[in-house]
Amino acid sequence: MSPIPGSGLAKGLAVTLRTMTRKTVTEQYPEAQPELPPRTRGVIGLFEENCTVCMLCARECPDWCIYIDSHKETVPPAAPGGRERSRNVLDRFAIDFALCMYCGICIEVCPFDALFWSPEFEYAETDIHELTHERNKLREWMWTVPAPPALDPGAEDPKELATARKTADKLAAAEAGPAAAPQPPVPGEPEPQEGES
Ligand code: SF4
Ligand code: SF4
Repeated sequence: MSPIPGSGLAKGLAVTLRTMTRKTVTEQYPEAQPELPPRTRGVIGLFEENCTVCMLCARECPDWCIYIDSHKETVPPAAPGGRERSRNVLDRFAIDFALCMYCGICIEVCPFDALFWSPEFEYAETDIHELTHERNKLREWMWTVPAPPALDPGAEDPKELATARKTADKLAAAEAGPAAAPQPPVPGEPEPQEGES
């Protein structure tokens, strides 16, 4: 059956009219910045103070697009009579974002929390070779990483916080002198509970 003449035009106009009455979803980028979800995978930021050059991220990257160079340095003993230690010093940390597939494995496997997702996405280049970004750029992106979301009300404090508090208490006690330092429990007597003086 042949269509009624002009029915296509009427349908098209109906779609236009329907869409005109709806709220627009188009974002006027770049005039208006898009509102991105907090866990957006834009680019990878490096917090190099935490990096121990363990190479785990480079070894686990499925695309082999993380390049790390380092050298060894000898650290003198902390106390007289102690042993010298050697540590790795980072010389180069680069990621080739032309190869990266944004899988996040490097961030997941880093045991020292040195890699993070940043929502930054405006780093397009006209030359593919310029998509390899070195540590300074990765570090700049680190400052665009959003703060982690708040814990659920009633959630336990993270272990790191408890350890930091314990260390701070020990330091404060050491600074206050032996009188303020916690005394070892006397055998047979109950240990003082938290809040008791
Ligand atoms: S996100 Fe995936 S592909 Fe990209 S650097 Fe990390 S491990 Fe490699
Ligand atoms: S896994 Fe983490 S600590 Fe190890 S080299 Fe990579 S970024 Fe550095």
